[in-house]
Amino acid sequence: MLLEQIAHHAQNQAEKNAYQSRWGSLTYGELWKKANSLASYLQKENGAVMVCGRKEPLMPIAFVACMLAGRPYLPMDAHLPQERMERIGRIADAKTVLLCGECDFHTASAVTAKQLQELCAGDKRVPILQNNERDAYWLFTSGSSGVPKGARISMRALENFVTWMLSLPSVADCADAVAVNQAKFSFDLSVADLWTGLAAGGTVYALDDEEQSDLSVLYRSLKSSGGARLSCTPSFARWCLCDKSFGRELMPQLKTIFLCGEALSPKTANQLHERFDGLRVINAYGPTEAACAVCAVEIEPDARDIPIGTVADAANRLLILDSAGYPLPEGQRGEIAIVGASVGSGYVGNLSGGFGNYDGQPLYRTGDCGEIHNGLLWYHGRLDRQIKYKGYRIEPMEIESAIQQWQQVRAAAVLPIKSAGTVAGLAAFIEWEKEPLKADECQKRLSAVLPAYMLPKRFYTVEKMPMTGRGKCDLRKLEEML
Ligand code: AMP
Repeated sequence: MLLEQIAHHAQNQAEKNAYQSRWGSLTYGELWKKANSLASYLQKENGAVMVCGRKEPLMPIAFVACMLAGRPYLPMDAHLPQERMERIGRIADAKTVLLCGECDFHTASAVTAKQLQELCAGDKRVPILQNNERDAYWLFTSGSSGVPKGARISMRALENFVTWMLSLPSVADCADAVAVNQAKFSFDLSVADLWTGLAAGGTVYALDDEEQSDLSVLYRSLKSSGGARLSCTPSFARWCLCDKSFGRELMPQLKTIFLCGEALSPKTANQLHERFDGLRVINAYGPTEAACAVCAVEIEPDARDIPIGTVADAANRLLILDSAGYPLPEGQRGEIAIVGASVGSGYVGNLSGGFGNYDGQPLYRTGDCGEIHNGLLWYHGRLDRQIKYKGYRIEPMEIESAIQQWQQVRAAAVLPIKSAGTVAGLAAFIEWEKEPLKADECQKRLSAVLPAYMLPKRFYTVEKMPMTGRGKCDLRKLEEML
């Protein structure tokens, strides 16, 4: 379905821009032709394909090519540290690495951007595969076992998500217009604008990291985007709202803002309504493991409480489970579980996790605490230690395990630093075996293995890690030190 839709647009609106970023643009005709040529090369091998870049037009070409070739694409941010990239490559056993532009890391066997351009230049055509159980993409998120873990999303799950997105009036209303993409392609929120936009024949306008870090540059890009839909995290929306110029004059065509990935505050939702008259503010919810988002709700002006979705028109069945895995009645709090076609195929390497079955359908237990009330789903935080920082999903265990690799360290714990109800950074508590390292040395060592958003801002030395009666690290005691 998805590939057929893109092929249809390539046939019927070949000259329309499918994709645009500050690295160049791409029409539907070009996207389809180049992706087919590249697919005929990719078909020669099997397994996941690492696609690395900064949102160059070669990235969507590579993604479509991978789908045509029947190989999952594994998007990687160009600024990832070498060690992490190699680690993910090993876990994924990725035999092909495509560099869509300049990247901070290198591998001798990678296909360079120049070579990629040549591979895209041919005139080959490949047939569209009909097997929808094949994996469409693998996305690596922070792992609670100390290493990144890759969620496998099938074409079936992705297409279920895209069909659901296009059924939302707020998305259908502007589906073939310009969709502004904020999220990195290695973050599942990007799936919402990229594949929904391409399926509907719209133009995806992608913002890269550099454009996003400077407000005046960002505003200039938003203004020239002509965006009708903006998909982003609430953290990004708050960043945009920093200056009064983020409003109707800047984005006169903006109809819908699709927020997902972390809790949305009433303040942010109301500010968006104040700045953009007539804007549809959508709060969507879902994990990477179930193709981006599974439910959504339109937030009206002056909302006091923010639900995360309407149950009746969710992309999947939503359940609230007790700790033994049995469904709870409406109004009771428990773990949010997703049952249906959007649920992914498990983790790369068959790692254990929340995947299972329910009534013969795929199920994913999210680890989120929630409640269904009057047909709405409400979010009540995590049941584990997972942190959301600037919309990024972080398992503190992964940072702790990186710190514990150092021979000077006896024990380490990482906690969120909270300010006004949101996470403002991370703090690391370290019990040293030898002379403590300075904070900047700790940062330097960690930045060699972790992405920038996972680096703790503060480092505390503890003489002895506090313990609970059960012999576990007493995180509450550590929290008091913040
Ligand atoms: P990710 O896999 O990075 O998309 O993160 C998924 C997690 O983000 C979920 O399990 C929730 O904890 C959180 N999350 C996603 N959307 C929302 C939302 N609208 N409100 C609150 N938390 C959310």
